[in-house]
Amino acid sequence: MNTGPKSTIAASYVIVGAGQAGRRAAETIKELKPDVDVLLIGDEEHLPYDRPPLSKQVLLNEEHEEGAFIRKREFYETSGIRLLLGRSVQSIDRDAHRIYLTDGGHVIFGKLLLATGSRSRRLTCNVGEASKVHYLRSLSDARLLRKEMIDGRRIAILGGGFIGLEVGAAARALGCDVTIVEPQERLLKRSLPAILASSVQKLHEAMGVRFLIGRTPVSVERNGDNQEVVDLDVGVVTADVVIAGIGSQPNTELAETAGLEVENGIVVDTRCRTCDPDIYAAGDVTAHFSSLLGRRVRIEAWQVAEYQSVVAAKNMLGDDQEYEELPWLWSDQYQWNIQALGSFDLPGEIYVRGDSASSCFSVWNVGPEGQVYAVAAVNNGRDISVARRLLKGGARLIPSKLQQPALSLRECCSGHTRMASTP
Ligand code: FAD
Ligand code: NAP
Repeated sequence: MNTGPKSTIAASYVIVGAGQAGRRAAETIKELKPDVDVLLIGDEEHLPYDRPPLSKQVLLNEEHEEGAFIRKREFYETSGIRLLLGRSVQSIDRDAHRIYLTDGGHVIFGKLLLATGSRSRRLTCNVGEASKVHYLRSLSDARLLRKEMIDGRRIAILGGGFIGLEVGAAARALGCDVTIVEPQERLLKRSLPAILASSVQKLHEAMGVRFLIGRTPVSVERNGDNQEVVDLDVGVVTADVVIAGIGSQPNTELAETAGLEVENGIVVDTRCRTCDPDIYAAGDVTAHFSSLLGRRVRIEAWQVAEYQSVVAAKNMLGDDQEYEELPWLWSDQYQWNIQALGSFDLPGEIYVRGDSASSCFSVWNVGPEGQVYAVAAVNNGRDISVARRLLKGGARLIPSKLQQPALSLRECCSGHTRMASTP
């Protein structure tokens, strides 16, 4: 798009953040109303891409990058979505309906969608000037990391969450020596139940990964031999490469300075509306209401970016849709596909269906009256899809039956249970 610095542009629908949510919203608006004017602004130079492949296939081989770009450049040209890439938005003047770019240009909007996502949380411990700690959020980060993950190299991964484990699996596939450091008493504490985390740890150990659990890095320094030394107070890890996957934080600064409500994310209602009737938000950056949990949540997952953005786009066009998806995510590590649906934060009892020492089982969080609160499954998409229907239909499970995998999930429900039909 021919728009130099200091230029003025106007569009009826402006989207800030050309990531997954921004791209989905832009294409939805154009699908529904091809004649309207849509401008997608992003601070990365690349065309919009999805991030899940970055910690998986993209680390293994450059050829897999292509799969992350859901749409090619021609799509934007033919659909008429104007792209302003490599340009960062600095501030929003809500009264004037203007946004200001860091290079001095500005954009006049009719309706605005904030899809600014999140960024990697940075280490707060002492990191020496010569150290080169890697983070993984963007395609550029993944490219840098891929160059470093060479057969035989020692990789220290700080953080035993999804990024740490997926990068660990990729590094082992590439022949690297991998150590993962996790300060909590177990892996994946934020998202998955302990029994599943324990199986994941065993899987990684069987693949040769070493874990230092319950240890917090106090410093990272590059020594005279060009090695990174991670000091854990109770010992050190020496490595060629250090990667920190220690969580992320939402990019809420724009919204905050514009006076929008922000509380661990941009606060939106179920219709993706902020407190300004002309400004919407979608994706990682939002704090939205979850009817399952009965409170506001911020969920950093592909699903929210994919579907909340569609709801936002439709409502920006005047529709009245609600975002009501049950929380769902997946992770791929070695030959394991892990999926989780619902919430393990709800205080229920945990039951295992199948053998947690095998490579196909599910773990259920069941409420006091047999309500399905959550299920996480290894290589068992079927349990996830049935659980989705049980959850939606308000089914009640009989735990003693649930633990008998020979019985179908329908047979594990109490008599008066309803199963929602497949959507
Ligand atoms: P983002 O993808 O973060 O996009 C926001 C964009 O806005 C970015 O390009 C950002 O640079 C830009 N931006 C921010 N501020 C400005 C500004 N002021 N001006 C202009 N542009 C701006 N989820 C799963 O469910 N399963 C997975 O397997 C999975 N794997 C993942 C692997 C990795 C490595 C990562 C990082 C995430 C993964 N996720 C996964 C999470 C999922 O990718 C995110 O939830 C999703 O990317 C969120 O999309 P988004 O569009 O809201 O934000
Ligand atoms: P994460 O899942 O929150 O895990 C980060 C882990 O690092 C937590 O256990 C955290 O412990 C720990 N940690 C915090 N500070 C640390 C330190 N100083 N040293 C070592 N460990 C530390 O976050 P992530 O793995 O970095 O992922 C980032 C984002 O990408 C998230 O939004 C995630 O959902 C997304 N992502 C998703 C997938 C997927 O769904 N498959 C895959 C990759 C990435 P505390 O809890 O104590 O902070």
